Amino acid sequence: VLPERLSRLVRWLTKLPGVGEKTAQRYALYIVADTTDYGRRLSEELAQVAAQLRPCERCGHVADLEDGKDPVLCSICRDNKRDSSTLCVVARIQDLIAIERSGAMRGRYFVLGKLLSPLEGIGPDDLPVATLSRRIAEEKVQEVVIATPPSVDGEATALYLARELAATGVRISRIASGVPHGGDLEFADEITLGRAIDGRKALSG
Ligand SMILES: [Zn+2]
Repeated sequence: VLPERLSRLVRWLTKLPGVGEKTAQRYALYIVADTTDYGRRLSEELAQVAAQLRPCERCGHVADLEDGKDPVLCSICRDNKRDSSTLCVVARIQDLIAIERSGAMRGRYFVLGKLLSPLEGIGPDDLPVATLSRRIAEEKVQEVVIATPPSVDGEATALYLARELAATGVRISRIASGVPHGGDLEFADEITLGRAIDGRKALSG
């Protein structure tokens, strides 16, 4: 019953996390029915975001190409007031943002982009351990704070990284519990997350 064009838009929208068929249809119909030019302006914003933003070449956060610098670095990697002796390892950009909001981390970040997950077929070889080790060596990192979520996959990834990085001689710590088990860092409040960072426990080193 939907025109083909609209069905295509619905299919694109269902690719977004948390958006099912019905929600996608609601969004698509809203965009079509809107008379305030919302659809055209949204498409311009999307085009700009795609053209202007890239992953930071050092940490994996989002970086703005507008600054015209090479290599492409995010604002945190370019900030020389950050403490480069501490490197905080997170699973996703959302976690980096949540930790930044807590204000408890003055160091820099490394975004893994994934966690070990037998269910999703993600094994040790899929983790960017070599890149992480290189950064530890190049930037003379003294402490790696592993801030993967307190889920089964998050804990397994933390233990795996601690074992793999042991040879680098760096001090390795894990954020304290307090963030609910299985919970997303993204949804933990700033105080809880700040305490989890401050109360981190040594894993090795
Ligand atoms: Zn960066």
